[in-house]
Amino acid sequence: MDLELNGKLAVVTGSTRGIGLGMVRAFAREGANVLVNARSAEAAKSVAHAIEDEFRVRAVPVASDVSTAKGCQAVIDAAAASGGADIFVSNAGTGSNETVAGAPDDKWLDYWNLHVMAAVRLSRGLADQMEAKGGGAMLMNASICAVQPLWYEPIYNTTKSALMMFGKCLSSEMIKRNIRVNTVNPGLIRTPDWENTARELRGDEWETYLQEVADVHADIKRFATVEELADFCVFLCSPRASYSVGSAYHVDGGMLKTV
Ligand code: NDP
Repeated sequence: MDLELNGKLAVVTGSTRGIGLGMVRAFAREGANVLVNARSAEAAKSVAHAIEDEFRVRAVPVASDVSTAKGCQAVIDAAAASGGADIFVSNAGTGSNETVAGAPDDKWLDYWNLHVMAAVRLSRGLADQMEAKGGGAMLMNASICAVQPLWYEPIYNTTKSALMMFGKCLSSEMIKRNIRVNTVNPGLIRTPDWENTARELRGDEWETYLQEVADVHADIKRFATVEELADFCVFLCSPRASYSVGSAYHVDGGMLKTV
């Protein structure tokens, strides 16, 4: 299937590692130009160079912290300077670990800024570019935890749930401008971050730990590869998914315990 992404510009926040990296690589494989973002300038440059070498597309590195207004503006400006965004994936995010009784206000606000305000600010800024190009697509990368919480991360669960609702509100507004908005809720995706956590907890037995997590949580009894999730997201952002509007899609190997 031709995903009709050749020459489009896909902006993916948090794209030097893990899922975001998988997404920029998957977009580039389809012939899209990409904007690679992370706080580390070195990582953003190195990923952008590697993508240009491998896929012969344009890859623009932008080192900025998207949990700040200034960091979002840097992404918006770089996309404008590269001809304007066609696709935006709000991906940068991270897990948490706390109790409601013990977590200070600042921690709640930091996660709110990273998971919600980044999506608000970037979608607002990039929508004008998409509209000027005739339309586009946006994807909020929330989490299965947006609807099925894990007990140890109430801040993560709550802010990801807010991101999913934001995606729905944004969708109704944006479709009038020919911009489709959807949300993806991944389950267990095997990223270096998960592997590092497993190593910290179990040393040489780290793969056993990951298998135990998969056995407990996912009906399919394994983690997804980053590529399995990225391929789904790239399709959803492509013109071939033209009737998918305002939905939340679970990619979770059966982890969600409801329909
Ligand atoms: P990783 O920790 O592996 O990668 C995070 C990426 O985001 C890195 O490139 C990091 O680079 C960048 N980043 C982090 N904070 C910021 C920031 N403030 N501004 C800009 N870039 C930032 O994460 P994952 O790939 O595991 O997760 C990606 C998204 O997917 C997250 O939103 C996560 O909640 C979601 N998700 C992940 C699941 C999983 O199983 N892995 C399951 C469900 C959802 P740098 O540190 O240099 O900034």
